[in-house]
Amino acid sequence: MSNTGDSCIFCLIARGDAPAALVYRDDRVLAFMDLFPLSRGHLLVVPRAHAENIFEISEADMLEVAALQLRIAAVLKAELDPDGIAVYQANGAAAGQTVFHYHVHLIPRADGEGFDFANRKTADRGELSRLAARLMESLQRGPQN
Ligand code: 5GP
Ligand code: ZN
Repeated sequence: MSNTGDSCIFCLIARGDAPAALVYRDDRVLAFMDLFPLSRGHLLVVPRAHAENIFEISEADMLEVAALQLRIAAVLKAELDPDGIAVYQANGAAAGQTVFHYHVHLIPRADGEGFDFANRKTADRGELSRLAARLMESLQRGPQN
């Protein structure tokens, strides 16, 4: 496993040693706002244990990530009501992976919106934190009737 520990930004975030707008964290998985969002609400779901990509991650961790994706997608839908949500996951530089710690993107989409991964701005950290707090609260409340 390359790029573990101090040099892996998602390991640092998972340990609380680097800042992130957290929406969820337990002993296996976490979810936080992407710092260079493609759209408002763009989130990453990540295992805490370092695994570079799909070729390294354990089945158990992958299933934990998938279970959290379900919950996060429901919260995004409830709070932001996007027209759609794209789920994106890259393995290897050739596939577009830039951070080599397994992660799944959840990206709210609007009708007619383009999908330009290369053209993104750094988000305002304060705004990301406020949105993350709102999503975290909604996740903790659970499904509403
Ligand atoms: P990939 O290109 O590997 O599929 O996705 C990596 C994602 O991580 C990108 O969408 C990028 O914006 C995001 N990212 C990179 N560095 C950081 C960081 O330090 N904090 C957060 N929250 N996201 C990051
Ligand atoms: Zn890592």
